[in-house]
Order: sequence, then C-alpha cells, then structure tokens
Amino acid sequence: MKYPNILASKLPNIGTTIFAVMSNMADEYNAINMSRGFPDFNCSDKLISLVNKYMKKGYNQYAPIEGIMPLREAISKKTEELYSVKYNPETEITITGGATEAINAAITSLVQEGDEVLVLEPAYDCYVPAIKLAGGQPIFTPLKEPSYRIDWDELQKNITPQTKMIILNSPQNPTGAIFSAEDLQKLNKIITGTNIIILSDEVYEHIIFDGYEHQSIARYPKLAERSIIISSFGKTFHVTGWRLGYCIAPENIMKEFRKVHQFSMYTVNTPIQYAVAEYLNDKEEYLNLGKFFQQKRDFFNTGLKDSKFIIRPSLGTYFQLLDYSKISDEKDTVFAERLTKEYGVASIPVSVFYHDKIDNKVLRFCFAKKTETIEKAVEKLLKLK
Ligand code: PMP
Ligand code: GLN
Repeated sequence: MKYPNILASKLPNIGTTIFAVMSNMADEYNAINMSRGFPDFNCSDKLISLVNKYMKKGYNQYAPIEGIMPLREAISKKTEELYSVKYNPETEITITGGATEAINAAITSLVQEGDEVLVLEPAYDCYVPAIKLAGGQPIFTPLKEPSYRIDWDELQKNITPQTKMIILNSPQNPTGAIFSAEDLQKLNKIITGTNIIILSDEVYEHIIFDGYEHQSIARYPKLAERSIIISSFGKTFHVTGWRLGYCIAPENIMKEFRKVHQFSMYTVNTPIQYAVAEYLNDKEEYLNLGKFFQQKRDFFNTGLKDSKFIIRPSLGTYFQLLDYSKISDEKDTVFAERLTKEYGVASIPVSVFYHDKIDNKVLRFCFAKKTETIEKAVEKLLKLK
C-alpha cells in the first residue's frame, strides 16, 4: 500500500527484538532454537487440567483489574514463606500480562519526562524502549566482565539529582549472574538519602544454582519499601505463552502502577489465574526448579567441555554464555548468524544487550530444552574447531 510520510518514529533506533529475529532465522534454517528463552517441553498436565477445569466451570469473563484474589493471596503467602515479608494482597500485589507488561506499566507510571533511569548492561531488551517512551533517559553502567558483577562505585558515579529509578535483574538475563547479600547492602548504602525507586526484575527467582539462595529485594525492608518487584509464571511453570506475571510493591507505588495497568492491560486471562492460584499450593515444582535447570546447564556444559568455547559461569536463569574468541574473531552478530545457517544452532549475540553494541565475542544459549535437544545442539557445536 502507498502511504504519505506523516510519521515521526517515537523509537527511531529500535528494530525488532533480537529474540524474534533469531527465532525466525532458526525456523527458516531449521536450526535448533537456543536463542529465545523458552522451554521446548510442555508444562505439567495437572496445570493444563486445572485451566480446563476453570474454563468449564465458567470462569471465562473479565477478572478484577488487580487480578483474582485467590492468586494474589497465593503470591502473598509464597512471598512470605520465601522472603519473610508480608505483602497485602488487597493493595500491594497486581497480576499482569507477563513480566513485560509489568515492566512497561511500572516504568510508564513512575518515570517522568527528564528523569534518569540507571540500567546495568548487558540488559534485557525491554527496559530501554519503555524508559524512552516515558520521556526518561537511560544511563548505562556496564557489569564487570567476565563475572558480570555490579561495580557499585561506577553505578554510584551515575547517580544525579535526576535519578528516578534503578533497574536491577537477578538472576540476570543474559549473563546468569546473581546478586549477593553484599550487593544489596551496597545498594542500600547508595540509595539511602535519595528518592530513587528500585525496579527489581526477578522473573528467574526460582532458577538459581549451586546452592545459592535468591536474594530478593523483598528480603530487605529498607529496599523493599521503595521497590517494585516483578516476576513471571511463564518462567516458573514453563508457560511463556500464557503471558502471566505479577508485581509486588508498597501501596503508594502500587496505586500509581494500577492507574496505568488498568488502561494498558485492563485484566489478565481469568481461568489461567484460577488454575495457577490452585497450582501454587503444590510448592514442589517451583522449589525444585533450580535443581531441574541446573541439571540441564550441567548437561550442556559437560558436553562442551572439550570444545573451543569458553564457558562463562551461569549461576541462575536458563541461559549459558559461551565465549567463542578462540574459534573466530567475527562480530558476534555475524558469528551467531553463521552458527544458525551453517551449523544449525541459533543463539543470541550478547552485543545486542549493550546500547553501544560492545562485542565481547560472547553468545547466549538457552538450555531450557529436552535432553535430546541439548544433545543434538552439543553435537553440532562440537564441529566448530
Ligand atoms: N525480564 C526478563 C529478565 C526476562 O528474561 C523476560 C523474558 N523471559 C521478561 C522480563 C519478560 O517475561 P514475560 O515473558 O513474563 O513477559
Ligand atoms: N525473555 C526471553 C529471552 O530472554 C524472550 C522473551 C521475548 O521473546 N521477548 O529470551
């Protein structure tokens, strides 16, 4: 169709998310898709039966804007049991359309024109567009290679009177790095005496390895009182396509959040909310998730131990970073494309998670896959000499 040139893009430098680009390339070249983060196995039959049960019972109309009360109560209980803090389901918990909607609504409702928002890089790709659409300015601090620890001194240097928010993510996508208790003490120190709000993206809260405990911001009262914490059932129950997430925050923050959520998402899928509320009674699945994915990480890494890839530490998430600098000096975007087309394994080039596209010759692989999928991928990756 022909059209007049009447548009000025609000996001002139933003293209299609890399997750869609690489997944489409994987489909086109019939490659194993270890790019976008999603499992290639099904969720539990019980969870599917529960959705079916609630659909048949007639729970098929709009849910309340904040989400159904049994699910908010179940989240309140889970949070209290895990992190020893009570969030009021009435006023401090909202069910969202995945974590993505929660992140967007949080940033839209809290960041104002001219505000600065601190982002640690490499960063998950939905933060920056939301900040820009809200009229805010992202201010970047790199995580320290190769362990991707937070350099708190560097972060502190970026704090100004305009700093409205710090976005944190642990376990961290794409690096698999996690917060330590010491990190959170340092965070507490640098924000004391400021009005900075913390957006803590904790979608991988249950996917943590090697005996580490997730350091939720919720565990730290002085931080929690100024934080909005976001999680996702997509990750926890292997249902990324169901688009179910939630956020928890003190009432004053949640009040602002809900003003935006009611007009962007309005309400979230009703029968799925009831099903997940009931399913949360069974704690085993989420409490064993770390162990479950650790086996997959180890299976993938053991398979690659004699390869020329350098395996970076992955302490959480379902991602593994591989440094390919001993194999090629191509740009990571070029190498990832070649790996997909010529070797049949799709991954994500990590440079896309940096605003200035720093290329450290590292690719991200999602190991949330069946054993046979991982086996096939390893076989293909071992061909790279
Ligand atoms: N944050 C991070 C760090 C993620 O990796 C993802 C995607 N898995 C999201 C947010 C979005 O989660 P959801 O699919 O629930 O929108
Ligand atoms: N969060 C997933 C990842 O990091 C993908 C989500 C998406 O496709 N936007 O791969």
